[in-house]
Amino acid sequence: MPERWDLIVVGAGPGGSSTAYHAARAGLNVLLLDRQEFPRDKTCGDGLMPHATGEISLMGLGEWLEEPEHGKFSGFSIYTQTASLRQKVPPTFHGPHGYVVPREETDARLVGRAKMVGAELRTGVRATELLRSPAGSVTGVEAVVVGDGGEPLRFEAPLVVAADGIGGFAGEGIKAHQNSVARRQYFKGVSGPNTEDLHVFITKDMNEHGAGYGWVFYFGDGRANVGAGVSTKTLARSGRNLKDFYERFLEEPELSEWLADAEPEGPAKSWSLKMGMWGAKRHAQGLMTVGDAASMIHPISGEGVGYAIESGRLAASWAYEARSRNDYSASVLKGYATQLRQKRAKEHLSGYALTNLVPNLHAMEPLFAACEKDPKARRALVEAFTGDAPAYTLLKHPRMLADAVRTAVRS
Ligand SMILES: Cc1cc2nc3c(=O)[nH]c(=O)nc-3n(C[C@H](O)[C@H](O)[C@H](O)COP(=O)(O)OP(=O)(O)OC[C@H]3O[C@@H](n4cnc5c(N)ncnc54)[C@H](O)[C@@H]3O)c2cc1C
Repeated sequence: MPERWDLIVVGAGPGGSSTAYHAARAGLNVLLLDRQEFPRDKTCGDGLMPHATGEISLMGLGEWLEEPEHGKFSGFSIYTQTASLRQKVPPTFHGPHGYVVPREETDARLVGRAKMVGAELRTGVRATELLRSPAGSVTGVEAVVVGDGGEPLRFEAPLVVAADGIGGFAGEGIKAHQNSVARRQYFKGVSGPNTEDLHVFITKDMNEHGAGYGWVFYFGDGRANVGAGVSTKTLARSGRNLKDFYERFLEEPELSEWLADAEPEGPAKSWSLKMGMWGAKRHAQGLMTVGDAASMIHPISGEGVGYAIESGRLAASWAYEARSRNDYSASVLKGYATQLRQKRAKEHLSGYALTNLVPNLHAMEPLFAACEKDPKARRALVEAFTGDAPAYTLLKHPRMLADAVRTAVRS
């Protein structure tokens, strides 16, 4: 017998849990499916930016963020080939702190909140197909129990949210295509100048042929998440693979010093990302996408958790609206895509333009060096990096730009 719901959410990462949480709280009958069992790992830098922590607090987990084993950061240290920029979390951000928490823990907490407010969670169930009526309306989802060769399951609903990350459940035409790759490993005993900052390394090796950066993000329990990510263009232009970039990052002079007494905990793991809102379609009749499935990763920082939760919250409000009107047409759900674009497109698209127009980030060294000397421009640079302001706000700093141009001409 098929089972009937107001809303089916495919994928219980941050985007799916947030959608399910907010929709269930609004009174919708929600089914949340995930092919994995929780708690489960998700390859990530584990950084929760201030705006992400705001979203997590809205889901009732503000106090949990404060647990002492979680990292708590209040600034950024950005190291480039010629500059070293330190910036406190600017007051323009959505909060004074961010956190670093293993995704295994964060995702289990978020999914727990969705369950607590009434969403039904089924794990170990992989959605395989979006079901449609002969007239083309979404009628539900077909799924299989993972590792079971039995009959497919059918779940009925007039509305489906694809929150399956890079899974591509929403199908061609909507599916986000990956354009970056990243790798991370946990270490204990990493030294370094301070654990209150997120440390970001724009190395020459990763930026000669495109864009990429390495990071050290500290937890509160003496461990750290050490990783690196580059665009797929960088891989193609350099003929190298991600593992090679990552291993060379660990050999950078600063990193090898910080890691001298460190011990790895488990293997390094890689994952792909689709960075930048550019080119993604986020709605169709009876369907919305959120998080990575909606291509919501910031194109410079690679941050996606906060945007996944935010897009889930907005999608839930449009799910409620569609049910109230009993109208699941693309023209109603377009409201979701428009609202998301209005909220985030300036930061995402200008970041995307910057990373795609500049042939390689190494060419921006004069700008990094000029920002180091100009506190306001430095703040604008950090805001552009994190997505808290559009990248073009750097143009509001003519003195810094003139300084950068002078250095570029001289060299
Ligand atoms: C190495 C790396 C470092 C990163 N660092 C950061 C960082 O520090 N901070 C940050 O904010 N972002 C970071 N990101 C990005 C961040 O990880 C993602 O943006 C975030 O996970 C998006 O959440 P999501 O809910 O959209 O998807 P996911 O977290 O990928 O969740 C998708 C879920 O869908 C399930 N699923 C997939 N297919 C199906 C199916 N067919 N049926 C049922 N279930 C399915 C999966 O099991 C999974 O649980 C990083 C990414 C990488 C790769």
